Amino acid sequence: MLLGISSCLTGNKVRYDGGHQYDRFAVEILGKHLEYIPVCPEVGCGLPIPREAMRLVATGDGVSLLTRKTLKDITPQMEEWTEKQLEFLAQKPLCGFIFKSKSPSSGMTRVKIYSEQGLPVSSGSGIFAGAFMKRFPYLPVEEEGRLTDDGLRHSFLVRIFTMNRWHEFMAAGPSKSKLQAFHASHKYLLMSFSPVQLRVLGKIPAQKDDLSADDYSNYLTMLMGGLSARSTTKKNVNVLEHMLGYFKKDLSPDEKKEMLEIIRDYSEGKVPHSAPLTLMKHYVRKYREPYLENQWFLNPYPPELLIR
Ligand code: SF4
Repeated sequence: MLLGISSCLTGNKVRYDGGHQYDRFAVEILGKHLEYIPVCPEVGCGLPIPREAMRLVATGDGVSLLTRKTLKDITPQMEEWTEKQLEFLAQKPLCGFIFKSKSPSSGMTRVKIYSEQGLPVSSGSGIFAGAFMKRFPYLPVEEEGRLTDDGLRHSFLVRIFTMNRWHEFMAAGPSKSKLQAFHASHKYLLMSFSPVQLRVLGKIPAQKDDLSADDYSNYLTMLMGGLSARSTTKKNVNVLEHMLGYFKKDLSPDEKKEMLEIIRDYSEGKVPHSAPLTLMKHYVRKYREPYLENQWFLNPYPPELLIR
């Protein structure tokens, strides 16, 4: 699994001041499960280490990347390099990108934009990060700081691991029946984020006999869009109750009572999401329910990744 990352987050000393911004979660925990392509747009476009700090400035032409004191405009060289770098990344089976927050080159969101007089007037994306998101709108992106939030981390992890399964699916030679199987195994995972998108997406594999490259591409864009929605407790309870329906004849009255109690406790915020999930996984294993055994909802990514 390949992920892009702002180079300074891996510990590379590429910052303007010669330092780094090592991120332990990205490198030591998530890094065990994937390979990174480190990218430093400022060094990549030919700037030295150390270098003058930069910022985004609103000018007559839009937003420019200027050095703070000497006001040198770096925008043309950054844009030229960015175009080549995006072409290079487009050839890779990339599953997402972790950006360094606040950077005028790499920040994904809320990067300050200053007036020509030096006052903060608005905010946006760093030059490289903005171009990356425009070029690859379906790819999961996050900033290192936002990954400390459990919900955002869950959402990002679900999407990058799903993206990796998609690359494997496409590499193995896609077909209508394989897409139907792929869709079926992601049914409850998608339902836990967007029941609406689940219904819409289900129609794509059923639509025609021969699926075109555009059909696969549309499916991926809509799948990633659905998985970007918020996964709420209510949606997860709905999924767990649907799954419980498969065991109606198998569970003993005590087991059913225990499962219902733990779903209720979860819906009331008394136990974490992992509690009903663990019990559900236990029953799926015990009663060997084949449809549920294939559901990525139960195992969307290695569980240790949610614990920081
Ligand atoms: S934030 Fe981006 S441009 Fe700045 S040092 Fe890190 S990788 Fe390089």
